[in-house]
Amino acid sequence: MKQYLKIEISQLLGSLLIFSSVGYLLHQIAASILLAIAAYLAKHGYYLIRLAYLINSGVQINPPYPADVWGLIYKELSRYRSRSRKRKRTLSRFASRFRKVAGSIPDGLILLNKSGCVEWANPAANQLLSISWPRDENTLLTDRVKQERLAEYLLTPDYSKPLEFPSPANKAIIVSLRITPFGGKKAQRLMVIRNITEVYKLNQTRRDFVSDVSHELRTPLTVISGFLGNLNDNEKLPFQERPFILMHQQAERMNSILNDLLTLSRLEMGAAPSAEKPVAIPDVLRRIVDQARLLGDQKGDYNIELQLDEKLWLLGEESELLSAFSNLIFNAVIHTPPKTVIEVSWEREDNSACLTVSDSGPGIALRHIPRLTERFYRVDKARSRQSGGTGLGLAIVKHIIGRHDGELRISSQLEVGSRFACSFPEGLVLRKE
Ligand code: ADP
Repeated sequence: MKQYLKIEISQLLGSLLIFSSVGYLLHQIAASILLAIAAYLAKHGYYLIRLAYLINSGVQINPPYPADVWGLIYKELSRYRSRSRKRKRTLSRFASRFRKVAGSIPDGLILLNKSGCVEWANPAANQLLSISWPRDENTLLTDRVKQERLAEYLLTPDYSKPLEFPSPANKAIIVSLRITPFGGKKAQRLMVIRNITEVYKLNQTRRDFVSDVSHELRTPLTVISGFLGNLNDNEKLPFQERPFILMHQQAERMNSILNDLLTLSRLEMGAAPSAEKPVAIPDVLRRIVDQARLLGDQKGDYNIELQLDEKLWLLGEESELLSAFSNLIFNAVIHTPPKTVIEVSWEREDNSACLTVSDSGPGIALRHIPRLTERFYRVDKARSRQSGGTGLGLAIVKHIIGRHDGELRISSQLEVGSRFACSFPEGLVLRKE
């Protein structure tokens, strides 16, 4: 910089010296000094106007550059321009590569702005959701896709579960939609739409198969049980006693399994319960605990404590909630030895309502906990069968709680006990005065 200052000063002094010498000879010193300054300013004016022209026209600035401070400005401007041209080329290469990649992805991708309008979409979004970019740019997604559940889903801040529905572009296609918020304050959303028709059909076939098989087995089982009952009433030889008892027990077991399988099928196939009916959970729990005490008395001596918030009700399906809560409370009696302390509590937990069933039983090893809600998963198969368990109880509980938008949390420690907690969202909680 110093070097340019030196050049400027020497140029100004030089022109002053030349002009004033000429002025001295012509006896016009003052005029010649003014002329020198004007010439100096004219040079700057010329370069300034040229700079404005170069910036405005965008023409390339090539060397040679002026030797003074303008040379520095022109050189820097030229360097800045070539850098930004390179950056633009890289960006446009990246954008075209991104567009190619996004175009070849089979999943639909849609960017939504904070008002829920489409900002960008890839071609697959058109096949799966009839959203085409740039045609639908700045259009409200819910104006283009008429799907009541989608409108509700977009309003909820919880996108942990995907939304599944028939594609508006082709009703034979089932799509699953997931949303990931991003950007400042997570106001923008990336929507990923997948074609899950195959998985959906497979699941439906599995559900239908299980339901059909259970129905088909039920009739012969009823006949067998009926004849067993009749034969059991007749006189039997001593060696026939035990086979009869075993046949009866096994028929009962099969019946329980079929009932649980049918319950699970119904839960899987049925629509979510209408959240309109208020359920007096404290009454429901009292009824269950009374039965659990009777069951406990048959096994030994159980200490079942009940702690209830009497005014806390829930909007939901009473028969389903009764089935889920009974499973948890009966499990605490069935899978623990006599003298176990069982605590059942129904209370508020922040804004939600929570049922907790804790016991001081043998506990469950950590490795089993994530699998407990799988069908037929039992920690100890033989013992569970002996106690009349089907291995389907917790799978049913998980389904019912999920249908009520709730969450089932299981924690346990060996030799200390287990804790099963079901929490329900604020929207379903009722305060009965
Ligand atoms: P089951 O018909 O065998 O009770 P569930 O699905 O209800 O089937 O439970 C799965 C397994 O979880 C049970 O077989 C048992 O091993 C374990 N379990 C459930 N509740 C408890 C509990 N309170 N204490 C210890 N183990 C439990």
